[in-house]
Amino acid sequence: MARGGGPLSPPSISSRVPSSSSSSSSARPHVHAAASSPGLNNNSGSNNNSGRNAPPPPPSHPRSRSLSTSTSAFASKDASAPLSGPTGPRVCVLGGGFGGLYTALKLEALAWPAGSRPRVTLIDKGERFVFKPLLYELISGTASAEEVAPTFSRLLAPYRTSFVRGAVEEVVPAKGGGGAKGGSSSSSSSSSSAAAAAGGTVRLVGGNELEYDWLVLALGADTVTYGVPGVRENCLPFATFDDATRLNVALRSLEKKKSDSSSSPCVVVVVGGGYAGVELAAVVAERLKVSSPSSRVELVTAARGILDGAPAGQHAAAEAKLAAAGVVVKANAAVARVDSEGGGGEGEKDLSKKTIALARVVASSSSSESSSASSSAPAAIAADLVLWTAGVGPVGGASSPVDNASAPSLPFPRSGRGAVVVEPTLRVKGFPGVFALGDVAAAEEEEEEKEVGAGGATATKKKKKKKPLPPTAQVAFQQADYVAWNVWASINDRPLLPFRYQHLGEMMSLGAKEGAVTLPFALPEGVGSALGRLPVLGDVLSAAGVRVAEPDGVTIEGPLAGALRRASYWYRQPTGEQRVAVGAEWLAAVSGSLSGGGRRKKSE
Ligand SMILES: Cc1cc2nc3c(=O)[nH]c(=O)nc-3n(C[C@H](O)[C@H](O)[C@H](O)COP(=O)(O)OP(=O)(O)OC[C@H]3O[C@@H](n4cnc5c(N)ncnc54)[C@H](O)[C@@H]3O)c2cc1C
Repeated sequence: MARGGGPLSPPSISSRVPSSSSSSSSARPHVHAAASSPGLNNNSGSNNNSGRNAPPPPPSHPRSRSLSTSTSAFASKDASAPLSGPTGPRVCVLGGGFGGLYTALKLEALAWPAGSRPRVTLIDKGERFVFKPLLYELISGTASAEEVAPTFSRLLAPYRTSFVRGAVEEVVPAKGGGGAKGGSSSSSSSSSSAAAAAGGTVRLVGGNELEYDWLVLALGADTVTYGVPGVRENCLPFATFDDATRLNVALRSLEKKKSDSSSSPCVVVVVGGGYAGVELAAVVAERLKVSSPSSRVELVTAARGILDGAPAGQHAAAEAKLAAAGVVVKANAAVARVDSEGGGGEGEKDLSKKTIALARVVASSSSSESSSASSSAPAAIAADLVLWTAGVGPVGGASSPVDNASAPSLPFPRSGRGAVVVEPTLRVKGFPGVFALGDVAAAEEEEEEKEVGAGGATATKKKKKKKPLPPTAQVAFQQADYVAWNVWASINDRPLLPFRYQHLGEMMSLGAKEGAVTLPFALPEGVGSALGRLPVLGDVLSAAGVRVAEPDGVTIEGPLAGALRRASYWYRQPTGEQRVAVGAEWLAAVSGSLSGGGRRKKSE
């Protein structure tokens, strides 16, 4: 799985679009109150950008259950500042993660011809944007909740975008087809934009409704259990801010319990050998090693080893870290069921004794157990805490009936694995007014495949094949640039751009301070090993944790990689204001540790 949001910048879409229309620097966001929506205060506890910039309550709307994005919803506190026009098209962005929030912010930054600036409403069921790659820092206590998961109300306070807190229950496109017309990748002229938009309605749980002209779907993914008995009831997932909070509570209870008693050592099992499983096992093992030294962390994977398909450098760094942290890897083992002794209330239940029944996966003859710490899978493991990272699937996809019964009903075409089918421009197939991105979308990239000649060894020609893009943050935030641009183009009747993914490398957290970063390019054959053999440089590179694994390229591991990863995530923060806030936290942490204070665990 491609990961990271590597050290390099993605191509700025503004460089590909007409300069008159796309420069983000030309459109510094105005300091506006993010708006209240009519009916909001009376319904379902929805939250808006209330707080210090909140505008006076808007007049009540005739349709009390509607959150129509009317003029009043976009009233500015600063009457002299230019408003998004009261008649601008209504863009609804569903989901405020890497896809949705970054699209909304990019829409703000684009330059809009007079009268076409849209009124953007971001809807999310949670109150926080979650920078998921940093969730591990909440477990190690090396980042605060506000760094990892700032509230939308704080993030969006200086911007025009309106935030509505609510769970999407259903999207109902207006009769007459697939939504708004306009903006075409073909040269055929299409009637311009909002006036011609068919749009539709978003229904929220609790009955509120919002009308839209253009829709952006960015609802992300849910944890998938594959219907394995007992997983939903007895395992903790690790994909949201709430999951991280719950895990912190469980670990604290475990730490307390073990320091209180002389009972048997505690066992934490992490299920899943992908990046999330490895990163979680590393951070939990590192934490327990200090707080509860006799405890044991085991990682169970149905694959033949950890990080199947990852670059060699990432693999080697992860194996070394897990071995050093004492994590036992059990490969070729699928979880068949998870039983619990039960009892206890919320929280205590997480820590009641579990039994994990394992089924051995019969591996192909070429497979081997790759970790030095791995062992044959036993039939069952007894554990205090079971953490599930073994799967994710698009919201509302095939796994929803089992894993998320309250997933929204979306009338859009789905791929085999349940992701929303999109065209290369990220427009939903058959719905010209709807765009989808991130984990919920089935976007693809073209990959060149070497065709081997009849004689065997020689590659004669290359053919192109399509492969699905991975569900990663770096895909989602790159797509956000394109979706914002394509909404702009649709509204202004300009050609749409096909999405081009640029791989930015791989990054992984390995405990509180360490990591592994694989750069997004390979060195010419032989150069890496030659560098490593140079007398002084070779030693310097090795001391800095730089490892060159041909043909996968350069991987940096250890504390330097950990620092690079954090710096890169600082750069990727959604707004300038958030970058300043995170930078200030870091400075405080560094000066605290220099003066011997250490970091306070604000996340707990
Ligand atoms: C622990 C962890 C670590 C990760 N680390 C990395 C990494 O290092 N690098 C990397 O590239 N990727 C990483 N990923 C993957 C990455 O976070 C996702 O691919 C990315 O967040 C996808 O962006 P998105 O906008 O599609 O979805 P999300 O960021 O998940 O956002 C979806 C939003 O939709 C909201 N939502 C969902 N359903 C509803 C509903 N019914 N109504 C209203 N709102 C709803 C959610 O609350 C959420 O805010 C990690 C993921 C996890 C879980």
